[in-house]
Amino acid sequence: MQSSAGIPAAILQLPKAELHVHLEGCLTPELIVELAARHGEKLERRSVEARYETKTFAEFLELFKWATLYLREPEDYARLAEAAALRMTEENCVYAEITLSAGVMLLRKQNAERNFAAIRERVARATAAAERGLRIQWIFDAVRQFGAEKAMDVARLAAEMKSEGVTAFGLGGDEESLPAADFRKVYDYAEGKGLHRVVHAGEMGGAEAVRDAIEILGAERIGHGIASIRDEKLMELLIARDIPLEICPKSNVCAGALSKLLGVTDARIEHHPLREFIARGVPVTLSTDDPAMFNTCLNDSYRAAMDKMGLSAAQMVDLAEASFRHSFLRDDEKRNMIADFRAETVRLGLL
Ligand SMILES: [Zn+2]
Repeated sequence: MQSSAGIPAAILQLPKAELHVHLEGCLTPELIVELAARHGEKLERRSVEARYETKTFAEFLELFKWATLYLREPEDYARLAEAAALRMTEENCVYAEITLSAGVMLLRKQNAERNFAAIRERVARATAAAERGLRIQWIFDAVRQFGAEKAMDVARLAAEMKSEGVTAFGLGGDEESLPAADFRKVYDYAEGKGLHRVVHAGEMGGAEAVRDAIEILGAERIGHGIASIRDEKLMELLIARDIPLEICPKSNVCAGALSKLLGVTDARIEHHPLREFIARGVPVTLSTDDPAMFNTCLNDSYRAAMDKMGLSAAQMVDLAEASFRHSFLRDDEKRNMIADFRAETVRLGLL
């Protein structure tokens, strides 16, 4: 075991998997200025940054809508994907399941196939030289408040693009807008097409939203799910079925979910229930959600879990490995990645 000062650094050096990150959430203020300029609009960096100071979920959704207005052509998406992938390789991320808001592309009548082709091509080029490589699979996400019909369009697109690396169908947006039952047919369709299923639930909504995501929609992983901490039986269900909560601590602070959960106005990351979930044996993974919009990154999430939530080195290693274990990789690939991960923990003196 390393000296205590060396442990945090070694944890950050571990190869990591990122399972809950929205490509559009990787739009930094700098990139917005660049993309706006591509389209002939001059934006001041400082005024863009001011928009990023969100404190509530409504403000965050507003920012997401505004920022993505600059994603107009395949080249915009390609540029964003390149920047996001490079950032991930810098953080020792070797595997990512990146969520693409295909629902927003369809809403804006964009050619989603062309956008996706440009993204894949540029990411492959950008990561070719990465020392550890970056394997990516994609999750196509529908926007809940747009309704089931639009969600079905996204599920169909995801099924068509499965051979191009789309592994799952997801539902995001305002989880309190429409009930899970509205989307049952869409999830049944996705399952029938061999897609994995994820749902954002229990972020702004309550524990029942998580239960519905599992029992009505067959979710295999839950985006956020922090409201589960309020429901003992639900936590037992998550443990029994080995369904992980994809925990994104900084997102929960910046989008107001943690304050809502705790019934306060200024919840801090120290108050996050991640540690309690781990203590109770609830499966969890650690992610960023919308790193640029919440001014965070994968290593920041790991740092916060150690420094602010007091997780031990052994817990951090387990948490990092959990992202590989709960990934939608094929079994043989998963085994190989976990073997590499374990070899690195030994090499870094963490085991
Ligand atoms: Zn999310």
